Amino acid sequence: MTSKKIALVTGAAGGIGTEVCRLFLNNGYKVVATHRPGKEEQAANWLQEEQLAGKDIQLLALDVTDHQAVGEAVPALIQELGQIDVLVNNAGITRDATFKKMSWQQWQDVMATNLNSLFSVTQPVFNQMCEQGSGRIINISSVNGLKGQYGQVNYSAAKAGMIGFTKALAAEGARFGVCVNAVAPGYTATPMVTAIREDVLDSIKATIPMKRLATTEEVAGAVLYLAGEYGGYITGETLSVNGGLYMQ
Ligand code: NDP
Repeated sequence: MTSKKIALVTGAAGGIGTEVCRLFLNNGYKVVATHRPGKEEQAANWLQEEQLAGKDIQLLALDVTDHQAVGEAVPALIQELGQIDVLVNNAGITRDATFKKMSWQQWQDVMATNLNSLFSVTQPVFNQMCEQGSGRIINISSVNGLKGQYGQVNYSAAKAGMIGFTKALAAEGARFGVCVNAVAPGYTATPMVTAIREDVLDSIKATIPMKRLATTEEVAGAVLYLAGEYGGYITGETLSVNGGLYMQ
């Protein structure tokens, strides 16, 4: 059994997830990185490409929307490793449409991945953290959950829901030494955002007081802070990393 702190990161192979994994590994954590079932080969390639192979990282196939599968895999992981010290609920999707045209499926998909998954993944981890008497849970919300975004009624609702979840669970976890917080990134330079047409991206940047996107390192750094020694008295908070785009 390892004496290192163990961090479980969902949606790990994405833009922000990759940097969270890298930063945790570089700061002495053991990392369990989840990928979607059926993507074993891509996940193994990801480890190589990101030069994470050979580090203290293990892969776990986990569809965060599959409540039953998560309910089996996460307790089994806890059994295998003995504990999880940090959970980063990072997996997320967008299915944008104006509300007039939004389908029920687009609504449900976004809710299932961004919000319902918090119930499934967090519950077994939270229970173990409470027994252990310590733990950090960090939920990756979004600036659009705080301010609302045109064409993202589903995503804004789910990301705002994550913040309510964070506060309520923080109230329950505090007496057990479990801190629960959210990080709300603004536009971050991940493939999801850099794929936006250049002129559109330029107009987005023009609305950001800092006139640029966040780097994945800047978002991951906020996660590391909340997970670490100096984050121990912060709970129920939402830490914005948005270049001044929205000030709470
Ligand atoms: P990516 O699309 O790069 O990463 C998202 C990750 O989530 C992918 O690895 C994806 O896997 C995984 N995922 C999606 N659905 C599931 C599922 N059902 N089960 C397990 N994993 C799943 O996005 P980002 O890195 O940009 O975003 C990470 C988080 O940050 C998200 O929650 C996003 O909403 C949030 N965010 C991002 C911002 C940005 O500007 N980039 C701004 C604000 C918030 P796969 O590759 O297989 O699809």
